[in-house]
Amino acid sequence: MLSKVLIANRGEIALRILRACKELDIKTVAVHSKVDADLKHVRLADESVCIGPNPSADSYLNIPAIISAMEVTGAVAVHPGYGFLAENANFAEQVERSGFTFIGPSPAVIRLMGDKVSAIAAMKAAGVPTVPGSDGTLSEEPAEIIAVARDVGYPVIIKAAAGGGGRGMRVVHAEPHLLNAVTLTRSEAQSAFGDSRVYIEKFLEKPRHVEIQVLADGQGHAVHLGDRDCSLQRRHQKVLEEAPAPDIPEAARKRVQDACVKACIDIGYRGAGTFEFLYENGNFYFIEMNTRVQVEHPVTEMITGIDIVREQLLIAGGEPLSFTQKDVVFRGHAFECRINAEDATTFLPSPGTVTAYHAPGGNGVRVDSHLYNGYRVPPFYDSLIAKIITHGRDRESALARMRTALDELVVEGIKTNTDLHRNLVRDGDFQRGGVNIHYLEKKLGL
Ligand code: ADP
Repeated sequence: MLSKVLIANRGEIALRILRACKELDIKTVAVHSKVDADLKHVRLADESVCIGPNPSADSYLNIPAIISAMEVTGAVAVHPGYGFLAENANFAEQVERSGFTFIGPSPAVIRLMGDKVSAIAAMKAAGVPTVPGSDGTLSEEPAEIIAVARDVGYPVIIKAAAGGGGRGMRVVHAEPHLLNAVTLTRSEAQSAFGDSRVYIEKFLEKPRHVEIQVLADGQGHAVHLGDRDCSLQRRHQKVLEEAPAPDIPEAARKRVQDACVKACIDIGYRGAGTFEFLYENGNFYFIEMNTRVQVEHPVTEMITGIDIVREQLLIAGGEPLSFTQKDVVFRGHAFECRINAEDATTFLPSPGTVTAYHAPGGNGVRVDSHLYNGYRVPPFYDSLIAKIITHGRDRESALARMRTALDELVVEGIKTNTDLHRNLVRDGDFQRGGVNIHYLEKKLGL
């Protein structure tokens, strides 16, 4: 068992990790930027270290400062949370070289899955369904590019191998625009990611975003914890998620879940991870893997009763998975609304002091948030301030609980997107279930 864990993150996920450590009697070290000294988990941690000034580049992304904090405090492992250094293979490597444990997969696996071209190749080899497209990176030869796109069939999407965060992608509807789009995407990819490799995929017009949560111990055991639907997105950012994904034929669901478990074993995966798919007309198409805990992990915890962060800590401590696939029992339905400090119409971040905060509660309601009365939301980081999660015996009861919970939520002093969520959980199409990834932006008139 790990004796002391350093939490290399902030906000709600840092608090989430701290709570899991406490339950396992693991000592905690919080690291924080200057402005974050008053974060809830910093106050609750056994020890805390200020690792730098406010910009993330100088603090939460400052690898030497984080490793020194581990040395100074005697932490044996680091939990990266999500965002920041969570999928940075160089960070994981430096942590291991310094003799510490990185809570996550090996640097080699992070690298394999972080590159979209190598990730897709690995998934194809493991039998995970992928989007029809080019076989690896596009060549420089115009005639070959044209032939590949014709073969895939228009519309196609040009994507950067090193892309991320919804950047480095371009849709092409017809051949006359193809070569120009490839050139543009290449040069964007070069300047954004320092890597100009691009590839082609069939552009799916009305897919849903459905993902599979997995846990693997790196000792030959892996399980899936079912799926989530995260189709409600704005600018590729998830807004509201649910588990399980509604209206998916059981045979298709089982096939993709089993393929993900097999892929974990094939690539030697260790820890928690998520296989992201586009889902259209009954078919799943792999787009990428997240090699970390995700923001929306609580909906899976609610329907399985499995604490994903606790499992991450146990796996990193060297323990084999203590349960098998047949022990994973799915119960009911869960939703998560991401509450952001942002303007309702412009979506611009709205930092400031929270003058009043009342969290909802009651049967089947969970709130993951670092907020408290008087907390100052700083302007330097992501605007997520709370996750409201509800669970019910079926989709309708979980949704009814979410309506009540959102009505109870009070956050004053800053602007939030709570009204958007109140509106969404009363939206007819969303209530019926299975809307596609364009639904929210259309509804918002974007
Ligand atoms: P990133 O790593 O930048 O998030 P992804 O590969 O996960 O990139 O794609 C982000 C989003 O772009 C997807 O959620 C989807 O909305 C859209 N997208 C990506 N590939 C396709 C595709 N082949 N067809 C349609 N939409 C796509």
